[in-house]
Amino acid sequence: MMRSRSCPWKATILSIMPRMFPGPLGESLSGRALREGLWGLDCIDIRDFATDRHRSVDDTPAGGGPGMVLRADILANAIDATRMEVPDVPLIYMSPRGRPLTQQRVRELSGEKGVMILCGRFEGVDERLLQARNIEEISIGDYVLSGGEMAAMVLIDAVVRLLPGVIGSADSLESESHEKGLLEYPQYTKPREWEGQTIPDVLLSGDHGRIGKWRRAEAERLTRERRPDMWKKYRGGN
Ligand code: SAH
Repeated sequence: MMRSRSCPWKATILSIMPRMFPGPLGESLSGRALREGLWGLDCIDIRDFATDRHRSVDDTPAGGGPGMVLRADILANAIDATRMEVPDVPLIYMSPRGRPLTQQRVRELSGEKGVMILCGRFEGVDERLLQARNIEEISIGDYVLSGGEMAAMVLIDAVVRLLPGVIGSADSLESESHEKGLLEYPQYTKPREWEGQTIPDVLLSGDHGRIGKWRRAEAERLTRERRPDMWKKYRGGN
């Protein structure tokens, strides 16, 4: 089995449901890379840092209202103890109020030694913790999940596929959607004709100059049609 010599990129997860991991991250590309030691995963059970007999981690919201809130003191115990093991990685709280995750932030995170991710549950976490530990909040989109675990998996999956050796050909990453501010061009494979539709002739021409131009034009067309916001930025930057 292949082991990377330097310490691989490591995700450290703080959750009250650590058994959700590796979950889908144990399959396919990320799963193989995990088994090959190209990245690491450490899941900490927040309940291990509770201070009472019932191992409780949450309490009712100050000011009233439905649901429960994860306690600052218990979370800080978990974070501070774990920080000693992974002192210099970004600390992130998955949160629908966070800055939306982008391919650019994913790429930056892939250049770090790893990440430490706090997964919320219930109504979220006590605000004082976020301030006191200077935690970056990241959202995976404008909708609400029931917990941060699946959001953390999304972030980790996006990072892991960028790590050296995880995807065989680095070329396949270059033209991808969001990598250069454009959506990716359409892809085709065999059979050549399917339900009366054929593959565009240019892709079968073997002329790499023409193929490149066609793909560029299609990427621009799709971006213009589907993502006026991205198109505006792309045009502005050119
Ligand atoms: N009451 C909160 C939502 C709590 S959802 C609010 O309205 O802001 C419970 C947990 O799920 C959150 O603490 C967070 O960790 C996670 N979560 C929910 N939606 C998310 C999203 N879009 N992105 C990242 N994490 C999310």
